[in-house]
Amino acid sequence: MSIESKVQYYIDKKLINTMYALTLEELEICGNLKLEEKNKDGLLKLDDLMVGDIELDVYKKTRLRCKQKFYTHIFFHTHPQKTARTYPSVEDILKCVKRKAISIIATRWGLWIIKCESQIKDIDIKVLDDLLKKFYKIENYMGFSRERNTSSKSFDEFDLRTRQILLNDIINRIEEIKGTLGINMKLNLWKDTLSLDKFII
Ligand SMILES: [Zn+2]
Repeated sequence: MSIESKVQYYIDKKLINTMYALTLEELEICGNLKLEEKNKDGLLKLDDLMVGDIELDVYKKTRLRCKQKFYTHIFFHTHPQKTARTYPSVEDILKCVKRKAISIIATRWGLWIIKCESQIKDIDIKVLDDLLKKFYKIENYMGFSRERNTSSKSFDEFDLRTRQILLNDIINRIEEIKGTLGINMKLNLWKDTLSLDKFII
């Protein structure tokens, strides 16, 4: 067992704010999370930051992607608020599973934490794609369309009841992915996350 696996990782308020701010950039940004050098109590810092470059996406041939040179156990990337989907892509999930890693994705909705360290069932890409497309429907309902270049309303722009329905729908879709594929994932809405002093991964 490595030393790192005994540590309870967390990010501090400053980094939560940085992650949010990075989603406002035009291009996708990615990097590695590493334990802070001098205090090994689990505090993670974001390192090796890269900015999106043009790379052909396997699924969408025109997307600007951020390509990391290497990966640590925990890695991070953004989905820019204006142009990108607000949930993980098929490739994001596969990358996490392949590396038995933890993937953190900052999107318009919030911070996604995807944990793929444990044994995960063989992934049928079609099944995964279909499950993720359910988020696409929710996002479209909220007004986002990459094709029409429109941005989503945020959760706060809907009335309380609609907000609750949308959130429940997202949570149910996440549960479906957990149940079907065994991937541990969680969406932490910005409104809950930005107010924290310490965010435990
Ligand atoms: Zn992604």
